[in-house]
Formats: sequence, C-alpha cells, structure tokens
Amino acid sequence: MFQEIIRKVIREDNMKNLILIAAPGAGKGTLSKDLLEKYPYVHISTGDLLREQVAKGDELGKKIHEMQMAGKLVSSEIVYKALEYKLSDPACDNGYILDGFPRNLEQAIEYDNILEKTGKDLGLVILINIEKNELIDRITGRYMCKDCGTIYNMNNPEMKPKVNGKCDKCNGELYQRSDDNLEAFETRYQTYLDSTEPLINFYKEKGVLHIVDGSKGHLYTLEQVEKLLK
Ligand code: AMP
Repeated sequence: MFQEIIRKVIREDNMKNLILIAAPGAGKGTLSKDLLEKYPYVHISTGDLLREQVAKGDELGKKIHEMQMAGKLVSSEIVYKALEYKLSDPACDNGYILDGFPRNLEQAIEYDNILEKTGKDLGLVILINIEKNELIDRITGRYMCKDCGTIYNMNNPEMKPKVNGKCDKCNGELYQRSDDNLEAFETRYQTYLDSTEPLINFYKEKGVLHIVDGSKGHLYTLEQVEKLLK
C-alpha cells in the first residue's frame, strides 16, 4: 500500500508516456527527436530495435531484414522480446515514447498485459494525421544522419541539409533507409491501413486518443503535442 502511494507520487511528477501512431513517413521519428531535445524521455522505436538486430547479421537479423524490405510486419513475438528488454531499463520509469508499437490490435492487447505486469501507465496516444501524397514525398526524400539520427528531407527546402550528404548538427554522413522506396512504401502504407488503423478506435474507446495535424511542419506538430503534455 505504502509502496503504491510512493510510486503514484513519483509517477505524477514524471512525463506522461506517449504512444505515437502514424502512417510511414508521417513524422513519428521527427516528433520523437523534437521531444527528446526538450524533455527527459526515453525513445523506444521498435523499427530501430529491429534494425539493430539486422545489423548483427545473424539468422534472426536476416529474417527481420527480409520482412522489413518487403514492408511487412515482423513477428510480434520478436518485437515483444525486444520491447520488454528495453522497458526493463529503469530510465523508462521517468517516461518513454513508443514509436512504431503497437502496430496491430493483437500487439495493443499484449501491451495492456505488459503494462499490468510492469505497473507502467498507458499515458497518451497520439495520432499524427497526414495525406498519402505528402507521405510519398517524405519517404522518398528522407535521409538520416548516421551519427546523431537527425532527419532531413530532400523534397522539402526547409528540411534539406546545408551541405549535400552531411549533417548540419554534427557533420555526420547522411544515409537513406533501405525500405524508404516507393515499392516498400506502398506495402507499408497498406499494412498501416489494414493493421494499424484499427488501433484508432481501440484507443478512442479508452479515452486516450489525441489527433494532431502533421501537415504543417514539425514545429507545429510539436506545439500541439506539448499542449497535451500540460
Ligand atoms: P519503422 O521504423 O517504424 O517504420 O518500422 C520499419 C519496419 O520494422 C516495419 O515496416 C516492420 O517491418 C518492422 N516493425 C517495426 N515495428 C514493428 C512492430 N511493432 N511490429 C512488427 N513489425 C515492426
């Protein structure tokens, strides 16, 4: 009882956990980066966790890579393992951003179980709304810094790097994700419509869903989210 009260007091001082739901290219990664610059969140991107496994080059990594290249979802069991390991980091107790998870109803239901097991809060669910045409522009022009992860867009004059191929912040080399091409995008987008969109109602019914407009630039998106954090 006493411990529960202490935990509640600590939790009230902490940041609200966030789940970001959006189609590929809508700006989950950029919003996460913007939030991390201002708040002590831990960023958990299941896509990044899976890419780390791919970089190891083992059998599991090869399997994951195949699914990612095809724009399909990786088996949930693999994702749960990576997620639970990451969530066991005590730094997550101060608040974390879930980027790319849950991706379907089955994962959302399992996530409720994980929350119950770990005593963590669901927090806020943020849906970033954006048109498909804009997503294609963003995906096909997206480049990232190998060293600091800053995201650029060659199709948007406001998001181009000052020097081609180099990061403005740390001079690191820029690269394009291998699944950021039109063909993989179409499958990823369809997967989003089929699997991820049903989450919208799931979280609406729980009363935790907030919709933000992702079409007016990343600072506007950040501003809307910050209002929700207060
Ligand atoms: P992202 O970096 O979020 O765009 O994810 C890139 C790819 O990683 C996706 O197209 C999926 O193949 C895989 N992936 C990321 N998160 C998940 C998840 N929660 N469940 C299954 N596959 C995932």
